[in-house]
Amino acid sequence: MVKTYDYAVIGAGIAGASVGAELARRGSVLMLEMESRPGYHTTGRSAAILAPGYGPKPIRSLTRASVDFFRHPPTGFCDSPLLSQIDVVMVARSDQMLILQDAIAELSRETTVEQLNDVEMKNLHPLLRDGYAKAGMVDRSGSEIDVHTLHQGYLKLFRELGGTVLTDAQVQSLTHVKNGWQIDTTDATWHANIIVNAAGAWAEQIGSLAGAEEIGLVPKRRTALIVDAPDGFDVKGLPLLVDIEEQFYMKPDAGRLLISPANEDPMPACDVQPDEMDIAYCIDRIENAFDIKVRKIGTKWAGLRSFVRDKSPVAGFSAKVPGFFWLAGQGGYGIQSAPALSRFAAALILGDDIPQDILAEGLDPASLSPDRLGTAA
Ligand SMILES: Cc1cc2nc3c(=O)[nH]c(=O)nc-3n(C[C@H](O)[C@H](O)[C@H](O)COP(=O)(O)OP(=O)(O)OC[C@H]3O[C@@H](n4cnc5c(N)ncnc54)[C@H](O)[C@@H]3O)c2cc1C
Repeated sequence: MVKTYDYAVIGAGIAGASVGAELARRGSVLMLEMESRPGYHTTGRSAAILAPGYGPKPIRSLTRASVDFFRHPPTGFCDSPLLSQIDVVMVARSDQMLILQDAIAELSRETTVEQLNDVEMKNLHPLLRDGYAKAGMVDRSGSEIDVHTLHQGYLKLFRELGGTVLTDAQVQSLTHVKNGWQIDTTDATWHANIIVNAAGAWAEQIGSLAGAEEIGLVPKRRTALIVDAPDGFDVKGLPLLVDIEEQFYMKPDAGRLLISPANEDPMPACDVQPDEMDIAYCIDRIENAFDIKVRKIGTKWAGLRSFVRDKSPVAGFSAKVPGFFWLAGQGGYGIQSAPALSRFAAALILGDDIPQDILAEGLDPASLSPDRLGTAA
């Protein structure tokens, strides 16, 4: 006898875990994850930053609407704070000043950003090479996110609400049947009334199994490395520092430095590994901007940030096949926006009104709809 669930969520990364927890309050939910460990792919490979000014407008609205959850998660969700404060600084060379001015003009409508001159930039980040920074801006409302605790908190909440997580359960086919979907995994068959596609870099492939529209999702590789700080330099208190054109970033990480070339290299969904060229570009850009000589690389990794063409997430029912919900395209912002995006998605799935606090942050629901991509035919 095939067991029937109200909802089947495909993928147990932050998107699947958070929407699963929201849905489990109201119905039976099965979460299917192809890996042995939830969080193995992009969720476990992030830089763990909440930057209110980062990403397209819908993401910035979702991020602001997520802050309250991060600061006041439900009782029992976690034993330690989810956020710790970090300044988010954008740096501009003299040839990047117009871009900086545009960014300040746009972001100061939404969040408090301060413009900094070259001396203030050097004071805030003493490792900047003399003469590199012409100016910059700082947003003091940024945070580091304890991603592991957040993700585990959602999975724990999901299970406490009666949800079932199955690992080593790769979805291999989806068949639309009377009143819902038949789901075949590697070694079992399930039935669910509604499918929620939270498969990260594989979301387009899951859409294709269901016969849904294409959304034009492109997974893009981003690489990060941990390196030593210069001898005797204490990195504590350093901000996250990002090039205004996102050519690199650096942040303190447990006494060392996390650096990234901020690359966005398109590639097929896979267990992506760092590329030697990414590492070479990264070191070159970092050594150009900072008084640092990278001698030894510690940990290095890469992850896939998946985007549709306007870089905003896709959250909504397919216009082509019934009972198939997209929750994809979170790009480089899927952790910081997860609390609000999951509540938004759950409201659509359950037929509820969209939460007022999310709308109050200026989110236009149409900006997340798969229909905006015009690919349903
Ligand atoms: C280097 C890097 C830095 C980043 N920094 C930040 C940051 O500072 N702040 C921020 O907010 N975001 C950041 N991000 C982005 C963030 O990590 C992602 O937006 C987010 O993790 C996406 O979550 P997800 O659940 O959609 O995807 P994933 O975590 O990849 O989860 C999708 C899951 O679906 C499963 N799956 C796929 N196909 C199937 C199938 N057929 N059957 C069953 N399961 C399947 C996969 O195994 C996977 O576990 C960063 C990303 C990278 C790579």
